[in-house]
Amino acid sequence: MADITMYEARFVPQETDGDAAPQERIVRVADRDLSGGAVYYDEGTHKGWLKCRFCDAAVHHVKGHDMVAGHTDMKGASTHFRTNPGQEHSTSCGWERLKVERALRRQYGYESSSYDPDKGYRIHLNVNLADYFYNKRRLYGRDAVRRIVCHDDRLPDMEPVSVRSVDDIVTRLAGLNPDRLKKSLVVHNGFALPWQDFFVRYMRGAPDNAAGAHGRFLKLHERLKTSRAVPCLMEFNMASGAKKPAPAMIESKPVLMGRDDYNRTHYLVPRAYIDGDRAAFHEKLKHGGDRHLVLGFARTAISEQKDRVLHYLNISLQNAAQMTSCDIAQIPVKQLKK
Ligand SMILES: [Zn+2]
Repeated sequence: MADITMYEARFVPQETDGDAAPQERIVRVADRDLSGGAVYYDEGTHKGWLKCRFCDAAVHHVKGHDMVAGHTDMKGASTHFRTNPGQEHSTSCGWERLKVERALRRQYGYESSSYDPDKGYRIHLNVNLADYFYNKRRLYGRDAVRRIVCHDDRLPDMEPVSVRSVDDIVTRLAGLNPDRLKKSLVVHNGFALPWQDFFVRYMRGAPDNAAGAHGRFLKLHERLKTSRAVPCLMEFNMASGAKKPAPAMIESKPVLMGRDDYNRTHYLVPRAYIDGDRAAFHEKLKHGGDRHLVLGFARTAISEQKDRVLHYLNISLQNAAQMTSCDIAQIPVKQLKK
């Protein structure tokens, strides 16, 4: 059974003889929001009394290693919950990775330990993002007897990788094979997205005044013409030319799109709105450089002016897990340059 890293667990207190029924709580790691009545993990209260969010497997809290700003410390993944030794998730557990895995095993006889080393990775994004409608065919559904079936025959034999924050993605990238990464699919909330569509990077060395230089931004904007919101990992460049961060928003350098028939210049302007706990984000921004990686759903908004048109790419940040300050050019691997 697959081992997954989880960002939330269930606190199941000891039964007491008293009259009050034990109160279950959802417990989250510290970089998440507390929507739905969740509380942050507290060792004194919760240690030893945690189960999987969706089944009765006993789990425990694992403290991660912080990323040192500017110098990505590749040693550790971020803080998460993990099953106790010998504990397995139930056959109906609700984590997406397990659902996909169960369907693949039944339909294709696939085992996650026997993947094809020539295929890309199946990167499970175990992150709680705002659940936008995303108009693509869902990856899996239910058959006539309510069993989960997978509609995507690219997935069997792909090596699974689980990540639960942007820091995790950065950490894992260093160990992945560049050729396989290019063929990878990112799985989140019922959808599978090619890695190259998911990772919207700011092209280094590309002249800012060259139209079309930042191809992945333009492709993302193109996709937003038919989708209300598109999930992505976006690189923000806040070097000179970008606006200073406002308390509630960071803005990347604009990307030139071209001119229209009215001689107006069109730009893409990536913006991340800090809608969650601002202190956690500002702590990351304070210690980071001028490059950031932002994970979320991009949506467009337009501002038409006399001589120029701004196409905003807006991303809402609810969890500190959705952002890290990191210059990917500093990662000691070649795959990101491709
Ligand atoms: Zn479970």
